[in-house]
Amino acid sequence: MDDEVRRAARAVDGARLWRRLMAMAEIGATPAGGVNRQALSIEDRAARRRLVEWAWERGYDAAQDGAANLFVHRPGSEPQLPPVLVGSHLDSQPTGGRFDGAFGVLAAFEVLEALDDAGVATRRAVEAVAWTNEEGSRFSPGAMGSAVFARRMTLGEILPVTDWDGVPLADALRDTLADLPEVPMRDRGLVPAAFLETHIEQGPRLEAEGIPVGVVTGIQGISNIHVEVIGAEAHAGTTPRRLRRDALKTAAAMVLALEDAFADGDDTVRFTVGRFDVTPSSPNTVPGHVRFTIDFRHPDPATIERLTGRIEPICQGLAGACEVRVHRKRDVPPTRFDEGTVDLLRESAKGLGIAHMDMFSGAGHDAMHLSAICPTAMVFTPCKDGISHNEAESAKPEDLAAGTRVLAAAACALAQR
Ligand SMILES: [Zn+2]
Repeated sequence: MDDEVRRAARAVDGARLWRRLMAMAEIGATPAGGVNRQALSIEDRAARRRLVEWAWERGYDAAQDGAANLFVHRPGSEPQLPPVLVGSHLDSQPTGGRFDGAFGVLAAFEVLEALDDAGVATRRAVEAVAWTNEEGSRFSPGAMGSAVFARRMTLGEILPVTDWDGVPLADALRDTLADLPEVPMRDRGLVPAAFLETHIEQGPRLEAEGIPVGVVTGIQGISNIHVEVIGAEAHAGTTPRRLRRDALKTAAAMVLALEDAFADGDDTVRFTVGRFDVTPSSPNTVPGHVRFTIDFRHPDPATIERLTGRIEPICQGLAGACEVRVHRKRDVPPTRFDEGTVDLLRESAKGLGIAHMDMFSGAGHDAMHLSAICPTAMVFTPCKDGISHNEAESAKPEDLAAGTRVLAAAACALAQR
């Protein structure tokens, strides 16, 4: 391992990183110890401001783009070279934890500081990035900011999206950008030389193995499907069973049949019906309309195609007197991270004497979009009991520091290329 790379990794200050994480967790803090910092909310704006203030204190410039992605810039000696980007997201689920996303952004900021503290000048600029709306809980789909940056979606596609109060994303985005008037706007600029992201694992494997660093080789694909079942509303007291077209009963049978059809021997398929909307949702009316969502994930694109193709016939077969419509909403194909960058992370961990293992990500991350435009890879760190998207989410300072050291070493090596 190169001496500069080693110095940069050693300069990572785990205590400073932890202090920043705890300070960030005050923004949107919930009584149960988590955070509620949903995308483009007042709390999200406050988090962005805090990051910008820390950047300015340390002498870094900040910039934002049209999707409110926020960049903190540490210059390189050769400004014409594309930068190395490191980052994640600051938004959270409504009952989210302190580490999901924020760790990746603050670890990226720690990388910038470590490079300075180690006195390392890099050829390429290194930028810490906070991508907009990774969580997708307020505005769907998630990972919007990175998708727009990577040109997998356009601004025009996301602006009309509304939250559950009917607030258009366009308005929330405008207000968020206006909240940091001192931070200049910029267009995308150069396609990055590479992107690195660190994140808590959000699963139980690293903790169970006692290993602080997971080198992520890819992210499984996601298919989102909405199923609409249309029956007829009818009086609960007067309508005999043979005349009913009960959309709820029909939809419930579909969910159970789909659960069975998607069950696999090795428990790799992830199949979730997370939302079930019944109309008119009145105790004494036969439900006339149901809409439910399917979130289906798998590492293999062929399996995604094959199983997704079974949804419509299964639902049609159970429709009976109801009508059924299956809407395929949005697929994100499985991601395989760049082999060279994955290898660099392995070598960085090895060179620093940090135990590590390869793993595949079950959750989606901003890195899945960045990998479409530049060499990309991720570092996972353990979280307690694998719990995430939960206020009880917890992680150990020493594990987060280990992951950040690997990140700093890899970022430094990439920025010297
Ligand atoms: Zn996250």
